[in-house]
Order: sequence, then C-alpha cells, then structure tokens
Amino acid sequence: MVEKDKKEILLSVKNLKKYFLVEKNQYLKAVDDISFDIYKGETLGLVGESGCGKSTCGRTILRIYNPTAGTIEFEGKSVHSLKGKNLKEFNRRAQMIFQDPYASLNPRMLVSNIVAEGIDIHNLSHGDERKKRIDDLLELVGLNREHANRFPHEFSGGQRQRIGIARALAVDPDFIVCDEPISALDVSVQAQVVNLLQELQTKYGLTFLFIAHDLSMVKYISDRVAVMYLGSMSEIAKSDELYKKPLHPYTEALLSSIPLPDPIIEKTRQRIVLEGDVPSPINPPNGCKFVDRCNKAMDICRENRPKMVEIEPEHFVACHLYDK
Ligand code: SF4
Repeated sequence: MVEKDKKEILLSVKNLKKYFLVEKNQYLKAVDDISFDIYKGETLGLVGESGCGKSTCGRTILRIYNPTAGTIEFEGKSVHSLKGKNLKEFNRRAQMIFQDPYASLNPRMLVSNIVAEGIDIHNLSHGDERKKRIDDLLELVGLNREHANRFPHEFSGGQRQRIGIARALAVDPDFIVCDEPISALDVSVQAQVVNLLQELQTKYGLTFLFIAHDLSMVKYISDRVAVMYLGSMSEIAKSDELYKKPLHPYTEALLSSIPLPDPIIEKTRQRIVLEGDVPSPINPPNGCKFVDRCNKAMDICRENRPKMVEIEPEHFVACHLYDK
C-alpha cells in the first residue's frame, strides 16, 4: 500500500485511444480517450466486462500496440517515442504476466529456457550465475530447481502461472501488467497466485496494473480500482471507497452482482440486473456509452458524453448525475 503523502507517479496515461480498422472507414474503438496515473509501488485494478478494452489498454502501455492517439509516459518519458538503449531498458523494466498460462509458454522449451528468455535478451548473466538465477527464481515463486529441466505440459495451470511470474521477474522489472492472471485458474489456486503476487510486490517494491473482470479478487489485491465500460473510463477510486460508495451506475451494478458470504444479507439485498447488451464498440452511443442499460439515464445522457470529474479526493466518476 502506498501512503498518500509518498505518492510518486510511475506511469501516466493521457487521452489514450486505440482504434482498430475493421472495414473501410469503420473503426472498432477498443480504447476511447482514457486517462489515469499509476503510482510507484501500488496496484491499480482495471476492471470491466469482456471486450471493454482493458487488455488492449495494458498491451498499448507495453507497446504491443501503437496508440491511435494520446500519450503514455513512464517516469515522465513518452513510452512510444523511446528508441535504442532507452527502449530496451523500458522493455526490461515493464513486463507482462499473461492470462492463459497454457498458451503463453512455448511447449517446446524447457522451463529453464523460458524463465531465462529475458535474462539472455538483456544479457544479465551467464553460465553458473545464470543457472543460479533460474533456480532462485523458481524457488521464489514456489517451485523447485528440479522443475527447470521439465516442459510446460508437465505442470498444472497454477504452476504454469508461477513459471510465467518467474519469467516476468527474471529481468528485475519495476512495473508489471498482470493481464487477467488468475481467470484461467481453478478457484482453489487463484488466491495462492494473488498472495504470491502480493508477497513479491512487498519484497521488490513492484507496481502492478492488475486487469480482471472478477471484482471480488480485484478488491483484495488493489490499492485503487479503475472501472472501464466500452472503451471508456467510468470511475476510479481507492479500493475501499469504491466498494463502500460506488458512484457510477455501472459500478453499482457490477458490485451488486458479487455474491456475499453472509447468506441472510445475500438473500435480502437488491441486485441490479443490467438490461440489454453491451453496444457495439464500432458504433457506440453518442452520449454516455452506458445510456441504453442505465436505470438512471436522463435526456442529457443521450446528447453529451460525461467527463471524468473528481467528486471527492481521489474519487473520479464520469456520469451526468454528478454534473456540478
Ligand atoms: Fe447513466 Fe446518464 Fe450516468 Fe450514463 S451519464 S451512467 S446514462 S446517469
């Protein structure tokens, strides 16, 4: 957890857009003008339904995609303008843990070589030192050194994700995009992987962008949570605040769908059931993108797209209900 008075921005996303051309003059607006900061040492949870643009956002931050518009700055330097040595250094410092621990590991490579990919690319160690580094990394993520000489198919999903985490950590990163790292895992191992990530964050002062659609797990790991809907940002707040006092009708609906542990409260509480489908990101509504599913929609919501405003310290929302 980052203390308020010690906050230092590591990554700053400003007015980011990422459109994909689908047909002549038709664009899929995967990320449509979003802005947020990530502070050093924090975990920012990024949530929303499938297809809302959260993974595209993570991938654009790591230069897997070029942005259509907007800027991403890492320690004040534009990520997409980096070249040569500076680009290589960014590629070392910013890593990714992928959603699917089956597809993200090359089945023909030994675990030792998977974990050492970054070590070799960045020329970080050789010979005995390289071997020791691989052994240490495997132990750090709860595997053992004998696992180095096996292939990915010999491991369970949870163990494979641990290999993916070891690969990301091998190059001493500062920032990791965790792209739905637990959603392909059994519920019984999800908590283990989240606990491991938290331990590693504390030990190495890592900063995470934790992408997920499971709001209950995001609450557990995040300092702050950002909610996306159809490529736009709806709300950003400290984790506790967002769960206690959601402001955006979409956040309210998402939270009301989390099962509660107390069966009596669970039975009596009111669920907000979202009507209708998510509109097409190729042709989203002109005003608020949530307007066709919102039970509080007003006339203005069809005309003007709401802007992100700070309603309380560090609590931002984009909704006309909070227009001043
Ligand atoms: Fe609902 Fe209007 Fe707020 Fe959009 S701007 S979430 S339609 S009240």
